[in-house]
Formats: sequence, C-alpha cells, structure tokens
Amino acid sequence: MRQIQHWIDGQLTGGTSGRVGEVFNPATGEQTGEVELGSAGDVDRAVQSARSAFETWRFSSLTQRQNIMFAFRELVAGRKMDFAKLLTAEHGKTIDDALGEVQRGLEVVEFACNIAHLLKGDFSEQVSTGVDTYTIRQPLGVVAGITPFNFPAMVPMWMYPIAIACGNTFVLKPSEKDPSCSLFAAELLAEAGLPEGVFNVVNGDKEAVDALLTHPLVAAVSFVGSTPIARYIYETGTSHGKRVQALGGAKNHMIVLPDADMDLAADAAVSAGYGSAGERCMAISAVVAVGDAGDSLIDGVRTRIEKLKVGPGHETGVEMGPLVTRQHLEKVRGYVDAGEKAGALLVADGRDLVVEGHEKGFFLGPTLFDNVTTEMSIYTDEIFGPVLSTVRMEHFEEAIRLINENPYGNGTAVFTNDGGAARKFQSEIEVGMVGINVPIPVPLSFYSFGGWKHSIFGSHAIYGPEGVHFYSRQKVVISRWADPIHRGVDLGFPTHG
Ligand code: NAD
Repeated sequence: MRQIQHWIDGQLTGGTSGRVGEVFNPATGEQTGEVELGSAGDVDRAVQSARSAFETWRFSSLTQRQNIMFAFRELVAGRKMDFAKLLTAEHGKTIDDALGEVQRGLEVVEFACNIAHLLKGDFSEQVSTGVDTYTIRQPLGVVAGITPFNFPAMVPMWMYPIAIACGNTFVLKPSEKDPSCSLFAAELLAEAGLPEGVFNVVNGDKEAVDALLTHPLVAAVSFVGSTPIARYIYETGTSHGKRVQALGGAKNHMIVLPDADMDLAADAAVSAGYGSAGERCMAISAVVAVGDAGDSLIDGVRTRIEKLKVGPGHETGVEMGPLVTRQHLEKVRGYVDAGEKAGALLVADGRDLVVEGHEKGFFLGPTLFDNVTTEMSIYTDEIFGPVLSTVRMEHFEEAIRLINENPYGNGTAVFTNDGGAARKFQSEIEVGMVGINVPIPVPLSFYSFGGWKHSIFGSHAIYGPEGVHFYSRQKVVISRWADPIHRGVDLGFPTHG
C-alpha cells in the first residue's frame, strides 16, 4: 500500500493529524494507497514555508521566473505518459483522455512562460505639468488552491503556474481521492529549479481546507469543485478577508435544432456526454432536441453507445473507464433508478454492465434517457456520470428559456446550420462558455475559463488574462520628477493642470 504524504518546503514530509484517507484503483476496486489528511498544524507549516519563500521569490526577476516555467514545461512535456499513468490509476479515465488532460494543463504552463508580457503596466506621461502616472502589478503573497478529483493534473495547473509566475507562493490542497499527480508536479517543479517553499502540497479534507480559509497569511484562494462547497469557500474565504475565485458545478445543455448535421450532433453528444464517464464539469448532461430533431438524434446516440468499449482505462482500445469511487457509482446508479421511476424512457441502461476480469471495478455503462421532464432529479441535479438525458421541446425560444432558467451556467452548445440561430443563441444565452457546433467549449489558455450563475462565485474567471489579474494587484504611481513647481502649502483637493 502506497503511503501518500505532503510536500512542504521542498520535500516529502509526514503530517501530524494521524488521519488517513483511502485511495482506490477504480478499475479493480482495490485500495492502492493511503493518503495523509492534513491537520491545521500541517497547513500552518506549509503556509509559513510559503510565506518565508515569498520574501525572496517576490523579488526574483521576471526572466528567472520564466526560465523556471520553461524548464517545467519541458519536464511535463517529456513526462506526460508518467502523469497519465498516475492519473488513470487513481481516477480511472482512459490513458488517451489522461494525456489530453495533461496537454490542456501544459497550455497554461506555456501561457505562464510569457508572464513578462502579461505583467506589463500602463504609463501616461505628463498627466499634469511635470507629473507622470503609471501602474505596476505585484503579487499577493501566499495563495492557496483547492481542487476536485476529476482533473487531478489539469485543474491545479490552471492555478499554480500563473500564481507562481506572478511572484506568489502556493499551497495546493488537491482532492484526497487522487492526490498523486500533485506530488509528481511538485517533484518536477523542484527539478525545474523552483526554490523550496514556493510550491507546497498539503493533502487532506475539510480540516485542511478550513485551515487554509481562515489562515491569516493566506491572501487568496482559488477553488474548483461542486457548487455547495464553492459557495462555502467563497463565503468563508471572503469573510476572512481573502480574495476568492470559486468555480462550481454544472448542468450543461446542448440544443440540437432540426437543421443540424445529425451525424455531427450525435457524435458530439456521445463524446461530450460519456467522455471521462461523464465526470467532467463541461460534460453535456442534457440534450434538448427541438422540433423533429429528437428521433434521429436518439437513434444516432443509441447506435453509437452500443459500440462504446468500457473497461479499465489503461487498456488499449478502451473508450470509457470506471467512475472514481464505489460511493460515487452508487450515487449515479441511484439517479438512473430515480429517472426510471419518475417515468423517463430508458433507451440504454448501463446498470447491468459487467467488465470481465474487473467485476469489482466501479463501472457503469453508458445510459440514455428520452422524454425527460424538468422536475425529474436526472434533469435538475448534476449527476456527474455517464447518463445523458434528452428533453424534447417544440421551439428554439423555449429551449433558450430552459437553459436561462437553469441555476447553473458553466457551458452550453447549439448544433445548427443556421447562422442566424447560432448568433441569437450566443447573444441571448446566460452561460459563460458557449459552443456553436462544438460540444465542450473549453477556451485555450490565452482566454479565461469560467461559467456564470451558480457555476462561479467571485468576479474572476480562471487562468488566462483573468488569472493574471486574480493573482496580482495593481499599484498606481503618480510621480513628479522634472522641474518641480513650488506652489507652497495648498489644502485644496489636488486637480491637474
Ligand atoms: P467537491 O466539491 O466534493 O471537492 C472539491 C474540493 O473540496 C476537494 O479538494 C475536497 O477535498 C474539498 N471539499 C469537499 N468537501 C468539503 C467540505 N465540506 N469543506 C471543505 N472542503 C471540502 O468536488 P469533487 O467531487 O471533487 O469534484 C466534482 C465537482 O467539481 C463537480 O461538481 C464538477 O462540476 C466540479 N468541477 C467544476 C469545474 C469548473 O471549472 N467549474 C471543473 C472541474 C470540476
């Protein structure tokens, strides 16, 4: 059994809580590791290390920070497969999907390699006689990241490369379900030349999270996870004076209009609904079939999922792996039971799937519902599993209203060949990330990622330009050097002239 510790002050270290969590291989159902669950004391040790590293790191040159990011980029690119194997062993997703995840994280590292350009300030000469005004962006101090189980390599990489490149030091609290990728990243950052204490990992659960949220030396908190916890993080962190960005859960709809390319739409619904076994915050979980689009779409999705190969993520040819834990599997199965009981039409039922040789794995086959109505729990709740619900609607306007009334607003998509309809959709839809004939509209690293409504708390989206703003603060300087004019004492409010 692997013992999984913390990474503090540049090295692996044991904790003081005496509590541990179980880490499983979801494909076999076996426990493979024991992760230490950090105490408030462990968190304090990491924060103190980060604070003392900040005193020098904040004055490191932009070139030095960029060089370390370049070196880290090379190390991650060269060790992608090692990341992917760790990820698949603890999360369950397929190796191909895991490689894709690492690649999307790497894009943010590449963005951070160019941090000098992004930290440039503004300058206005002669705002008043002999007076110039300019802005500089400076780091915040110690910042914390709290991340979910479903992207254990990528989501932390949405945060720490930018935070560190901006001159902050970082304490990461990854998901206790799949903590190993974060420790691997810590080793590679050290190999890239990052000084001790700049990046720390404290494993743990609520106890460690609460210690971060209330620690007086933590200046800011980035969170990604479910909506109830995101709200809690936002409220607790801000009430302790911290800058907080908290990204929450989702219920992503994909509208299919009757004029859409039905093969494209069916491929997209299957890829976005069942990829990573539906455990993606940008997964499509509700397809809204407008007018007569429904029958051919359902037919297209059903025939495609019948051919999907479900099995252990590390096996070649497997397209969908298991769910992350037995508890989560039971929860998702419960939703399928509830949908059937509520009267939705179960077109494909994944509950009886048996993966030979992996009978104890946390598998659920692809499941498809038709005739879902909006009061059913399979519609209202984020299921986070391979369960796709189809809602039928007569008109496009009704479909738009449905999405706009949903409390979540992470991602959405429309499939159509009508440019006017697409334009109406992008303009009227109340969702932060919109796809037009693209089912998972995750922006590249030079844009920022963030939903609307209950999918985000706080005013900054994550990574990209908004990430740079989140991890830095503006200072404005008004300076008079040349030819000072001595006007004597003047208690009036300063005006320019
Ligand atoms: P989660 O909210 O259960 O856990 C996220 C983090 O919060 C973990 O580090 C966990 O240890 C911690 N945590 C859990 N319960 C806590 C509590 N009571 N108090 C303090 N901390 C607590 O989420 P998860 O199950 O790991 O991940 C899946 C969720 O994340 C889904 O809802 C998904 O939509 C969401 N997600 C959102 C995005 C996004 O960008 N919006 C991206 C990925 C995942």
